[in-house]
Amino acid sequence: MLTARNLTKNYSNLHVLKGVDITVGKGEIVTIVGSSGAGKSTLLHILGTLDTPSSGEVWLRDVNLGTLKGNALADFRNRHMGFIFQFHHLLPEFSALENVCIPGFIAGSKKAAVRERAAFLLETLGLADRMEHKPNQLSGGEQQRVAVARALINAPDIIMADEPTGNLDSKNARELHHLFIELRDKFQQTFIIVTHNEELAPLSDRQLVMRDGKIISEELTAKTIS
Ligand code: ADP
Ligand code: ADP
Repeated sequence: MLTARNLTKNYSNLHVLKGVDITVGKGEIVTIVGSSGAGKSTLLHILGTLDTPSSGEVWLRDVNLGTLKGNALADFRNRHMGFIFQFHHLLPEFSALENVCIPGFIAGSKKAAVRERAAFLLETLGLADRMEHKPNQLSGGEQQRVAVARALINAPDIIMADEPTGNLDSKNARELHHLFIELRDKFQQTFIIVTHNEELAPLSDRQLVMRDGKIISEELTAKTIS
């Protein structure tokens, strides 16, 4: 599904990534942990084409992402990747349903089909009675689930999540990780999740530990494999 080879990232003399290789298979949940400054966000941003590596390649399906530029890159990213951040970044003036639809409209999909899928996703995520609410009428956990639905709208190959539980209390954080597992089981959804949360990181198929720009260990967690 996703393969990265020998990624490096330098800011003048600062070597933030020092040769990272990573392979993520379909339907796999991979968490990346490590202390602050280890390079986790930089790695995730490069995998998600939000940033470019100094050297190395990222492939998603059979596409070398380094060959995509401009509109083609933006279009590929919107169709094939979903993003979840620490803050939900929902647009305040739009309803939950409209927020979820936006990436589908941008992709040029039929509006009725997008609305139908958005409603289906919100129902699946337990938000059937929250679709017409504006973000500020929703709890933190609900807002983040709307952001998850938005990330899923174009049926992306992979979802990249950067500290998705960073702004949630422990109960909501745990529920969000269980939701990721449910989505993996139901839709074979693939995830890469950067997290500080050492309790939640093992709720994954594989846990990568980063230190000082490298992946220093890789552990099959297998706690969620039924
Ligand atoms: P934030 O989202 O925390 O405001 P960003 O990561 O978006 O910060 O960075 C804002 C700007 O600062 C970007 O241009 C980024 O390249 C730059 N930047 C981020 N971290 C550093 C750093 N450690 N040293 C120098 N520039 C940085
Ligand atoms: P983590 O997510 O593991 O906390 P980051 O990937 O955010 O680590 O940062 C890794 C290192 O790269 C840090 O030392 C950070 O200051 C530095 N860094 C990140 N972005 C920039 C930038 N735009 N310019 C310079 N240094 C940066």
